[in-house]
Amino acid sequence: MDTIIRTRIVDLLKRTDFGAMVNVKGWVRTRRGSKQVNFIALNDGSTIKNIQIVVDLANFDEEMLKKITTGACLSVNGELVQSVGAGQAAEIQAREIEVLGECDNTYPLQKKGHSMEFLREIAHLRPRTNTFGAVYRIRHNMAIAIHQFFHERGFYYFHTPIITASDCEGAGQMFQVTTMNLYDLKKDENGSINYDNDFFGKQASLTVSGQLEGELAATALGAIYTFGPTFRAENSNTPRHLAEFWMIEPEVAFNDINDNMQLAEDFIKHCVRWALEHCYDDVKFLNDMFDKELIARLEGVIKEEFVRLPYTEGVKILEDAVAKGHKFEFPVFWGADLASEHERYLVEEHFKRPVILTDYPKEIKAFYMKQNEDGKTVRAMDVLFPKIGEIIGGSEREADYDKLLARVEELGIPMKDMWWYLDTRKYGTCPHSGFGLGFERLLLFVTGMTNIRDVIPFPRTPNNANF
Ligand code: ATP
Ligand code: MN
Repeated sequence: MDTIIRTRIVDLLKRTDFGAMVNVKGWVRTRRGSKQVNFIALNDGSTIKNIQIVVDLANFDEEMLKKITTGACLSVNGELVQSVGAGQAAEIQAREIEVLGECDNTYPLQKKGHSMEFLREIAHLRPRTNTFGAVYRIRHNMAIAIHQFFHERGFYYFHTPIITASDCEGAGQMFQVTTMNLYDLKKDENGSINYDNDFFGKQASLTVSGQLEGELAATALGAIYTFGPTFRAENSNTPRHLAEFWMIEPEVAFNDINDNMQLAEDFIKHCVRWALEHCYDDVKFLNDMFDKELIARLEGVIKEEFVRLPYTEGVKILEDAVAKGHKFEFPVFWGADLASEHERYLVEEHFKRPVILTDYPKEIKAFYMKQNEDGKTVRAMDVLFPKIGEIIGGSEREADYDKLLARVEELGIPMKDMWWYLDTRKYGTCPHSGFGLGFERLLLFVTGMTNIRDVIPFPRTPNNANF
């Protein structure tokens, strides 16, 4: 076969220099036609679109033609021609075909219309489907959008550790990291495990958040963000929780809660706008296949100003709804941690746009949040989104050494884990704020997928770590 430099399909479909000889490589999606002419839809992952390969059967070896089956990998040399069929500008009149990889009829993606559950069981092959190709291309583009947003605003990308000996949010939901022999665990006279001889000489875990280390950086570099894997051993089998997910955590010196809300709103809008601008074909595909309101929802979020509402008022709205006969599965009252159904009621039924809920009761929020004068609430902010509920959680941080120390002691957090964090307040403390965005929650919103397992290539959830 002649050597011609390969062109990606996304680039080929833009070309108009008909008559040129080109090479494409990709996987067969479908093959149809008559005894004389066959049409192969070839996809190479560079776009949701296929290129059509027109094959005059008389010009090719019969044995080779037999190997062109759904899923097979081909290299095709041919002439770029203007397409007569509707829906595409260019197609390829095949001159030479090489079957790089055959694919027999045990290939599970023979026909279309598999359930999402089935596709999860073949997560090693699902990138070959239109749906997952679209989702993973969008995932990539969102990562770029995030770095671009922060870089342009002078934030530094700061790497916080994945293995940590401090628990940011409170114990119980961390994965332990150990090299101890679990078959021969040494315990002391009280029955406690002695970690002195473990790899790190103390108990260690996978991080649940990079925030505490992020604060160290923000109070030196000014504005930073983290973007890395995050682990939570929460046994909550919901469509919005993963055991391993990616989190983006900006942290900014001198920002108060209002600056923090504005940053969160600008940030999400930037990401959504980016998806519409850079991934339109993929978003449109998902819109048409799964969720006819997806694009309208994305455009809505860009246009609307987010509501800013204190928790106390949010609870009042929810209590009123209950009084008027609205049924929630979980109770609402001042002091309750809101469930996703409550968050979605505020966003989807009451305000019909995103809501930033602020000033939560301190008991249901983390120890580091800035305490309000009322002694009951803290300067927390959760961004609530249609279809998702909480997409961002953040706060202004307690900058006062004595107040923070009092809270740490009140909650019985051991000083051996906290001394270095408290040093930020001891030496040149400053007001600062930040938040965490779950990358996969953002992707749920942007793709319209309804299960978080379908926006990460290889989901880790209770009882599942396959592939
Ligand atoms: P939720 O109440 O939904 O469990 P959270 O209050 O535990 O969230 P934070 O600790 O504030 O969440 O984490 C910040 C962000 O990280 C959340 O707003 C969400 O977008 C994301 N997030 C949290 N837990 C998970 C998870 N298990 N899987 C995927 N994303 C998550
Ligand atoms: Mn949680």
